[in-house]
Amino acid sequence: MNAGDLNTLRNVLSSLDAAFKRLANVAVPLDTVPNVETSVLAPTVTIVEEINGIKILSKIIDANMKELLRTSQELLNDNAVVILGGVRAGQANIVIMMRTDVAKKGLNAAIIIKEACSLLGGSGGGRPERASGGGPHADKINDAVNEATKLVHEKLKAIGGQVDHMHLECIDCGKKHDLSTVANTCSCDGLLEIRYDFSKVQFSLEDLSAVPPHVWKYRELLPISGVPISLMEGGTPLYRCKRLEEECGVKELYVKHEG
Ligand SMILES: [Zn+2]
Repeated sequence: MNAGDLNTLRNVLSSLDAAFKRLANVAVPLDTVPNVETSVLAPTVTIVEEINGIKILSKIIDANMKELLRTSQELLNDNAVVILGGVRAGQANIVIMMRTDVAKKGLNAAIIIKEACSLLGGSGGGRPERASGGGPHADKINDAVNEATKLVHEKLKAIGGQVDHMHLECIDCGKKHDLSTVANTCSCDGLLEIRYDFSKVQFSLEDLSAVPPHVWKYRELLPISGVPISLMEGGTPLYRCKRLEEECGVKELYVKHEG
């Protein structure tokens, strides 16, 4: 291959790279959205990324809310989160949809849609597996779809790898239960307790000693698989009680403040 061929190849690769980057850019500018039927657009939906086995399908299409819902439904499969945006008559709309099994991993479309719709100057709501909303700021549809995609991306990443180091186990019959199933007791009526595979737990009290008191510093040992919703919970302090020490005749005595 001579220098000229090499340059040509470089140019082609560079163009391809730019094209892929454009494709990967979730929200295409509104003026490039062709005015065609959504059913024609649907198969060309952009696959943004696959995280922990879940694909995020995200795109702006020329559709009203009803069509967005229908197209999202068509695109949905077991391992996907579908995010579609559209503008009609000055109203911007967004739909986020996934199967219940995906939502159970810790994603909540209803929360994400609210964030996205606030950028549109409007609101949204729904259920963890299916939410929709919109607003009057049609020019912000790119930002809103990008925000929703970013949030889904972040949550999926945070969820990954959190559940394989613990399970529920019946203290009576020893039956193992998945953490994702909601169960108060075993089928034998025995109580369930959390069992850890400590070889998979990245946790040491020494590492955490410098971390400020906060319940989520123990995240690795908490039986949750999703992203925690925090109200800025703190740790509960120990108070040294000198008078009680004297009264009880012990060297040091602390009382735990359980809030
Ligand atoms: Zn049992």
